[in-house]
Amino acid sequence: MTADFFPQEIIRKKRDGAALSKAEIDFMVRGITDNSVTEGQISAFAMAVYFQDMTMQERIWLTKAMVHSGDVMSWTDADLGRPVVDKHSTGGVGDKVSLMLAAIVAACGGAVPMISGRGLGHTGGTLDKLDSIEGYNTAPDPKLLTKVVKNIGCAIIGQTADLAPADKRFYAIRDVTATVESISLITASILSKKLAAGLDALIMDVKFGSGAFKQKIEDAEELARSIVTVSNGAGVPTTALLTDMNEVLGTTAGNAVEVRETIDYLMGRKVDERLNTVVVALCSEMLVLAGIADETTAPLAVKGALSSGTAAEKFAQMVAALGGPTDLMTNPDKHLPLAPIRRDVIAPKRGFIKTLDTREMGVSVMDLGGGRHAASDPIDYGVGLVNIKGIGAKVGPRNPVATIIARTEDQADRAENRILAALTIAGEAPTKTPIVLKRVTGEHS
Ligand code: URA
Repeated sequence: MTADFFPQEIIRKKRDGAALSKAEIDFMVRGITDNSVTEGQISAFAMAVYFQDMTMQERIWLTKAMVHSGDVMSWTDADLGRPVVDKHSTGGVGDKVSLMLAAIVAACGGAVPMISGRGLGHTGGTLDKLDSIEGYNTAPDPKLLTKVVKNIGCAIIGQTADLAPADKRFYAIRDVTATVESISLITASILSKKLAAGLDALIMDVKFGSGAFKQKIEDAEELARSIVTVSNGAGVPTTALLTDMNEVLGTTAGNAVEVRETIDYLMGRKVDERLNTVVVALCSEMLVLAGIADETTAPLAVKGALSSGTAAEKFAQMVAALGGPTDLMTNPDKHLPLAPIRRDVIAPKRGFIKTLDTREMGVSVMDLGGGRHAASDPIDYGVGLVNIKGIGAKVGPRNPVATIIARTEDQADRAENRILAALTIAGEAPTKTPIVLKRVTGEHS
């Protein structure tokens, strides 16, 4: 490391509330990446940022430095002939939107090289869902990735060690020093990984509500504004939608069960209305921002890709091209096996679901073995919840709240107790709230 700065002086400056220069931020990120800044210094830096925060300009510099701490994909040589666009969600329970959206946007003329993560805690990860498909390769070599994106239009894969390595070290330290919650650091962390994929446009799905990372609407909106401002400032046109996570998204939560719901949705067999609203809204935003359609034609293009079956075809082609089965869409039972025990969860009284602790629904999936407590935990892809009811649904002896799919009776008992404790039931149906609450836009630089 060239000693043009000292980490402790930069930490002191931030601790005392001053704004850092681009050169100082670049120096810190370089030191995080090449290990010349120590773990203790990184922790102190994160805590100083947590308390003193960063200006939008500092966040832009931090994000750019983290993007360039490793490889940045370039699609120029691939001559895709379509804009490169992606979506990121702050995470929720039953959030299988990425699986649907990549295929739909590809069918509408976008290129979607989607770098996704594994789940930790109560929210599922897109990569875990794809891992439930036998043979699907989430780590293709760069040549295969380019070929799939060029020929099909979408590829959902995992992060490689070479993409945003600064975030990998920085996040691991934040995770154990109570500094994850800083909006400045979350912004740079999320964007560093997304922008390293060489995007022309990005849409953020920022969730609020009982199952979300930021539960309060105001906090979710602050995060959305930060991400939109910084991403646009870093040169990538970006908008965000604030969407409701006060109930599970769709009717399933787990891994194989969510891929099955995706297949049913794309094939037009079973379409959950709230999930469909979010999918159409996010896909439309992507098409508009990528310049493929305008605000009137985008939703029509999305609906056309679904009704014509071209989105389903794209999904099938992507799965097959990345090593999965060629008959997944017609034979989901064969390729997405489920655990043997099924248990309906019956509410203690008749009525309508008034509130749901969505986080607890996610924790019940994790406890069934479908999610991780620690990053190294293995996953049971065949467990989860299906037929999940949302707020306002009628429940009673003949209308279960959900059906548990478990490996053991013990697991089913625990999940049942947890789900029943997560509900309140009312005599009358509560008023439904819109699932897409707000759109947050920014200035493109
Ligand atoms: N997700 C990320 O990728 N980074 C954060 O800092 C928080 C959530």
